[in-house]
Amino acid sequence: MNLCAILVVKGASNTAARLWKKKDIMDKKSAQRKAFMTKDRVIRGITEDGFLKVAVVKTTDVVKEAQRRHGLSLLSTVMLGRALTGVMLLASDLKGEERVLLRIEGDGPLGIITAEANRAGEIRGFVQHPSAMININAGEKLEDGVGRGLLSVSKTLFSEAKPITGTVELTQGDIHSDITQYLYQSEQVPSALLLDVGITPEGEVEGAGGIIIQALPGAPIEHIEKVGENIQAIHSISEQFREGDYIDTLMEKALEGIPYKELIRYPVHFFCRCSHKRFLHSLAMLPLADLEEMQHEPQELVCHNCSEVYTIAPEEIQNLLEERQKQQTLN
Ligand SMILES: [Zn+2]
Repeated sequence: MNLCAILVVKGASNTAARLWKKKDIMDKKSAQRKAFMTKDRVIRGITEDGFLKVAVVKTTDVVKEAQRRHGLSLLSTVMLGRALTGVMLLASDLKGEERVLLRIEGDGPLGIITAEANRAGEIRGFVQHPSAMININAGEKLEDGVGRGLLSVSKTLFSEAKPITGTVELTQGDIHSDITQYLYQSEQVPSALLLDVGITPEGEVEGAGGIIIQALPGAPIEHIEKVGENIQAIHSISEQFREGDYIDTLMEKALEGIPYKELIRYPVHFFCRCSHKRFLHSLAMLPLADLEEMQHEPQELVCHNCSEVYTIAPEEIQNLLEERQKQQTLN
């Protein structure tokens, strides 16, 4: 091989290597972009005429984390997942550290479901009977898991000394119809709401998310009808994610045909503010006799909101007792 040929071959191989490296970088960048775009987050927007408020949320990892922490059955994964997704949509309309607590108390096998979220994107919740199931073969539906009963929504707002609570009867037990009913009856806001938790044939959470559109007074009826049709066409949020849609695409689809602007977006997580210190603080409030009884053995305490287990050592309880005795002497 002459020198010229060698140079050509080397040149070609360098170009191939460069192209390969470039492709590798592009692949990494596109994987990073995809990972970023598919993270759990909420996006809020408003139509340009100011009459329709919209929020979309992806909660796939939030629901997976709830399932893992609480050991949820498929039924409780779907229903608690819908509640966690719905409460985040409600909380996305708040300010700062304001928060919303959703409590569903039906006569179905799931018992009580609570879900709580704040504007910072922290979501937590639990279901009273996490292993509850329904018999689909006997014709039972998901909403039978919740049954009939009450739904209440409590909002802790900066401007109010006490939480504001509204309660309505469960109309369907499917959670989205019930929240929609609450918003109409208690807050007089006509809303369209879609909550979805998709489960794979293997029983894993495939995708979860929600959309809410709320009409303000004076909203053009044709816009309300249009978003209603748009939401019906979306049908299953988890299916949209499976087909490669991002949460941004859901927002576009929900408001298709109506000009809008995005207001804010931020990540959301399953997150509980419980801690060892907080549990110790609660123990300190117990009657003296209870503490005396507990002081000889380690105490295992479980946070019902997130199933985190905290072990309180006997010495820590003895310290609490000493503190209490000191206070009594001072008094
Ligand atoms: Zn907790």
